[in-house]
Amino acid sequence: PPGLYIVATPIGNLGDLSPRAARILASVAVIACEDTRVTARLLQHIGAKTPMLPYHDHNADAVRPRLIARMGVEAVALVSDAGTPLISDPGYKLVRDARAAGVTVVTIPGPCAAVAALTLAGLPTDRFLFAGFLPAKAGARATAIAEFAALRASLVFYESAGRTAATLTALAEGLGDRPAAVAREISKRFEETVDGSLSALAARYADEPPRGEVVIVVGPPAAVAAPDAATLDEALHAALADAS
Ligand code: SAM
Repeated sequence: PPGLYIVATPIGNLGDLSPRAARILASVAVIACEDTRVTARLLQHIGAKTPMLPYHDHNADAVRPRLIARMGVEAVALVSDAGTPLISDPGYKLVRDARAAGVTVVTIPGPCAAVAALTLAGLPTDRFLFAGFLPAKAGARATAIAEFAALRASLVFYESAGRTAATLTALAEGLGDRPAAVAREISKRFEETVDGSLSALAARYADEPPRGEVVIVVGPPAAVAAPDAATLDEALHAALADAS
């Protein structure tokens, strides 16, 4: 049926494409995608010949109204090069405008590097903040990190391999030397997750950057122990004595 279908695709291992995702991609009228060469490989894998239409940061504003109009009468899928669309990838405005136009929006959930990395890191997962890519410029990056410092949550960052060591150092400076993990090449041949303190990980990758795609997960700040009753009493007495 007509509508917008948000389809998650593999982040490395093609076997992670769900049967439902494959069925939708093979049957929609058109697939809006970032890079047609990347999506063409996925379509070839499932033996589909669905037409594609590039939708990326540079043409999105021009293409969006046309896509929205088509969704009213036929099924349109949105994919990104890898993983879940809209997560550090294009699509948010497409969904926003589709909803505003009364288009049915359906998601076909699947791989997402942020969630996959959380499952590998061995750090608390009850509360986490997905921080995406930090700003590249040092000043803006430090400001962003400072905003996260007080959060009692694990933090998840996407990063390019080459910047990993510098980012780990900036995180250690801005957050304190917390436990962390670097997960790379998830679901691919050279998948590897290394854990350690932020400074130890920074040292490890300073000389030799991790190869491939990388997610950094940082644990929450150490819990400050609540004072017990005796300590509170003592503090209260001291304060009262000072006041008299
Ligand atoms: N939409 C994607 C998702 O759902 O994960 C993320 C797209 S974002 C442009 C690309 C970043 O995701 C990479 O720089 C890396 O930080 C992370 N990433 C993607 N695939 C990965 C993988 N297989 N292993 C580790 N990190 C990955």
